[in-house]
Amino acid sequence: MKKITIAIDGHSSCGKSTMAKQLARELGYIYVDTGAMYRTVTLYALRRGLFDGAGNLDETALKADIDGGKVQVSFVINPESRLPEPCLNGEVVEDHIRGIEVSSRVSVIAALPFVRAALTLQQQKMGGEGGIVMDGRDIGTVVFPHAELKVFVTASAEVRARRRYDELLGKGQEASYDEILRNVQERDYIDSHRAVAPLRQADDALLLDNSDLTREEQSRWLLERAREAMAE
Ligand code: C5P
Repeated sequence: MKKITIAIDGHSSCGKSTMAKQLARELGYIYVDTGAMYRTVTLYALRRGLFDGAGNLDETALKADIDGGKVQVSFVINPESRLPEPCLNGEVVEDHIRGIEVSSRVSVIAALPFVRAALTLQQQKMGGEGGIVMDGRDIGTVVFPHAELKVFVTASAEVRARRRYDELLGKGQEASYDEILRNVQERDYIDSHRAVAPLRQADDALLLDNSDLTREEQSRWLLERAREAMAE
């Protein structure tokens, strides 16, 4: 069967990564979580103190650091889970990028054209050969506009906030449902209204609203669509 490119886009916290990871495992494909890449750059900016007390970002300093090669984003395979984990300048940062601090700044970082240009190029290089499942916001529209299978995933903001809340609690991290809901709605707004690569469903993407689907149901649906696309 031919190795295809699978683009999974959609709103924040709708379970894209979970389904994309599982699909990649079932197909023996590479999985790339592009949200983790934007989150990793955000962690860099936070650690470098590039946000002031009012939340304003020093874009010039961030651009200089990116241009100067000081912000290296990569992935390593976790030997136990066998899943790729994001690294910032060689340090595995998976456990530092999912909390509310990074979540509440990431959409600002992801709206910067120079950040998008750098990460988009890196993503296109990773997926050049096919055999990849990539999830994000602009994979089917910008990164791989010719992907053989494109899926756009959504669910109500309340369902998504509840899932993210449960996930953080499950990891033993502190969380507030109301804060997460506000964050989900805010990110939806910023992601959909930015000038560069805004979040939108590609014309040829299949829509999946998973508000009322179990994980098993959506995984089965996705695997069937992938098999159809691979057989074409
Ligand atoms: O997928 P996740 O929620 O981890 O993504 C975090 C943020 O990264 C999104 O809210 C969005 O602002 C940004 N993002 C993006 N383009 C992508 C992936 C993520 O702008 N391809």
